[in-house]
Amino acid sequence: MSRPLLYLDVDGPLNPYAAKPERRPEGYTTIRAAVRPGRPLRVWLHPGHGAALLGLPYELCWATTWMGEANRWIAPVVGLPELPYVDFGDRLLALRNDQVHWKTEILVAHAAGRPFAWVDDEQSSADEAYVARHHPAPALLHHVNPRVGLREDDFTVLERFAAGLPE
Ligand SMILES: [Mg+2]
Repeated sequence: MSRPLLYLDVDGPLNPYAAKPERRPEGYTTIRAAVRPGRPLRVWLHPGHGAALLGLPYELCWATTWMGEANRWIAPVVGLPELPYVDFGDRLLALRNDQVHWKTEILVAHAAGRPFAWVDDEQSSADEAYVARHHPAPALLHHVNPRVGLREDDFTVLERFAAGLPE
C-alpha cells in the first residue's frame, strides 16, 4: 500500500515570512537565495524541519512557486533530500475568478485519486469545496500560519490524518 502524498509549500510553512521582519524566529537560519537576477530573497528556514517531515508516513512533494529551485535552495538547509515537485507551468500564480487557489486544481490532478495532505498558508473554504467535489479520496488541507511556520502540533495533525486513512 503506498503512502499518502504530502504537498509542501515553502513560503509560510517552512519560511515564516510574515513573522516580524526585523526579528528572525528562534531556531531559524537565514539564507539569501539568488533565484532571479536582482536582489536575493531573504528566507528563514529551520534545520530541524527536514527530519520532522521525513519522520511522517508520507511521500513528500514540493508544491511551491519555487518549484524545482526548492531542491537547490531549500532542501539542503532544512535537511531534505531532492524531492519531486509539482510543475505549475503557465498556471503559476494565475488568479481564478472562483476564489479557488491557483494550485488546487493542479494538485488534485497530480494526486490522481491518491490520498493527500496539502500544507500551505493560503487555502480557503473554496479550496476545501473544490477538493471535496473533485477528489475521490481523503484529503487534508492543512493551513499553517505564515507568522509562525510549521510547529509540533502541525506534525501531530499530519500524523493523525495519515493514521486514520483506510488500509
Ligand atoms: Mg505560501
